[in-house]
Amino acid sequence: MFLKILLAAMALFMFHEQVKSQNYKKVVEETFQIAAMEQKAAALKQQVIQTTAPFSKATNNFDIHYLSCHWMVDPALRFIQGNVKTGFIITERANTITLDLADELKVDSILFRNVKLAFYRPFDNSVIINLGGFLEKNTKDEVNIYYKGTPPISTTISSFTTSAHAGVPVMWTLSEPYGGRDWWPCKNGLNDKADSMDIAITTPVAYRSASNGMLVDEQILNGKRTTYWKHRYPIATYLVAFAATNYVVINDNIQLGSKLLPLVDYAYPEKENDFLNAAPLTKRVMSMLHNIFTPYPFINEKYGHTQFGFGGGMEHQTNSFMNNMSEGLIVHELAHQWFGNKITCGSWRDIWLNEGFAVYCSNLNIEKNYPESSLLSMYRFQLNNITSKPSGSVYVDDTTSVGRVFDSRLSYNKGGWVLQMLRWKLGDSVFYKAVRNYLNDPKFNYKYAYTTDLKMHFENESKRDLSEFFRDWVYGQGFPSYKLKWAPAGNNWVNITLSQTTSDTSVKFFEMPVPIRFKNAGKDTIIVIDNNKNDQVSFINLGFTPDSAFIDPKLKLISANNSVIKTDIFPNVEKVMVFPNPIGNEFKVVLKDMTEGILHLSLYNLTGQLIWRKRVGGFNGNDLIIIPSAQLSSGNYWLRINKDDDPVIIKRIVK
Ligand SMILES: [Zn+2]
Repeated sequence: MFLKILLAAMALFMFHEQVKSQNYKKVVEETFQIAAMEQKAAALKQQVIQTTAPFSKATNNFDIHYLSCHWMVDPALRFIQGNVKTGFIITERANTITLDLADELKVDSILFRNVKLAFYRPFDNSVIINLGGFLEKNTKDEVNIYYKGTPPISTTISSFTTSAHAGVPVMWTLSEPYGGRDWWPCKNGLNDKADSMDIAITTPVAYRSASNGMLVDEQILNGKRTTYWKHRYPIATYLVAFAATNYVVINDNIQLGSKLLPLVDYAYPEKENDFLNAAPLTKRVMSMLHNIFTPYPFINEKYGHTQFGFGGGMEHQTNSFMNNMSEGLIVHELAHQWFGNKITCGSWRDIWLNEGFAVYCSNLNIEKNYPESSLLSMYRFQLNNITSKPSGSVYVDDTTSVGRVFDSRLSYNKGGWVLQMLRWKLGDSVFYKAVRNYLNDPKFNYKYAYTTDLKMHFENESKRDLSEFFRDWVYGQGFPSYKLKWAPAGNNWVNITLSQTTSDTSVKFFEMPVPIRFKNAGKDTIIVIDNNKNDQVSFINLGFTPDSAFIDPKLKLISANNSVIKTDIFPNVEKVMVFPNPIGNEFKVVLKDMTEGILHLSLYNLTGQLIWRKRVGGFNGNDLIIIPSAQLSSGNYWLRINKDDDPVIIKRIVK
């Protein structure tokens, strides 16, 4: 799902690279206003939800394998009448099953083996169906529920909407996250996908309807038009949808390898050109995702767009509902067909598995099709948004708040950046291989997955324990502010001290590879510090003497308020420092604040035998002595350092 206003702000960055800082500020402020609005709306929604909580009473003693729905509507009237045949398999011996259905909708009858069943409405938006006797485990059967009524009006995200465009009535549904039961009897949670579905929609003949899967038939009878749809892939409740108005239908195709996939758009007649013009873009993005990740998940059916009046988009399975055909929205909703629809978040706490990937794919589209400056502008915009508050986790702490679940700062932008940072940390090939493994995993694909399932695939492919990364970035809150102190160390060496503070106490330290750019008038390079402790000291040979340094120049990390300080002395270095240790074919002795005298360096083995000795003089204040050690055999040594009459310093070194 995506809200329009934020998208418009993001689109500004994509198409107008030369954004003046004034405009930039305005866009950022606008985003904050949206967030404030969303929170207000979310608070309202929360009140509504608390009076009707929880969101699903459906029992788990049956597994839905098939749905056949017939909905009769008139876009000019906020009313639905229909029947839903639910094919189920009993998973636990049962004489009742419970489905979710808003109390506002009246159940007329429930048929089971051609007999009317007794049912009970406990006024908690459910219907308890009495099966008339016990069904044994693994019994496969079906109930057919006839119902009608006026769906309840929800606040933030209306699940069943009647509106108008150019004076013509339009009706659409949008169930994510909790709205399915507002208009049809269903399992309103995230634990059961129907394996296949047939849908029939009857409207007055002036309207055309759009829904999931393939259009199989259309019949006109007594001034009513009925369209028949079939969908033969598993589908979550919130991804079932229909819309109806005087649509023009645009039939096109997308070539995916040897497969010609139908691309079917349902546009308002006055917006037909927008949809026609966007077709090449849809094809390009479809090919990109199909080639980079896994084949389009619903390749035996279709992809398409259906125009609706919600301020954004919604990734209904095989048929994204679109406010407009802007580039960011097209990519976002199409990406959800893999991330959200093929693999659905297993709980609303894990919504970033849907939205983070959608944001990631939007950025990927910019990366592949726009200049680097556009990508960096988008990154800067997202980073400013993510770090605009010191706290908040990607993992949703309160799923009763729709505003929190769909928090654009945390579930969307920060979620997308968790993925970008995994790519940075693990490298492109491991990252993409892990994501493909996740999408191909039969335990999750066409089913549900949790954060831990994605983590497992990144760990398996990288052969690294990512618990700390996920603890910091997904479950923990905030971000680091880096402080870099650096000093030239002579002979093209630099001394670096990298420190960080964190914006939230839930994370003490963010372990990340931190890129640092060094440059002078003629040379420019980026080095990476594997930052694993605070006040981390490194000496690096750049091959030139830099005059300036920058933290994270290409925006690989979530961070803010970073600072760089150039000094003349080595900060955070002891008077005498030896590195690396264990030593390799050479090692370095760093001397701080030494301006005069003679230094005696002596190397002993553990039995006290002198291996090597050296006298050094002519110091500059900060000195780096490089000592060849290729000839030295493996083992432990003592390095004894004394200056004139100063006390002896002894360091244990290992080769
Ligand atoms: Zn989305």
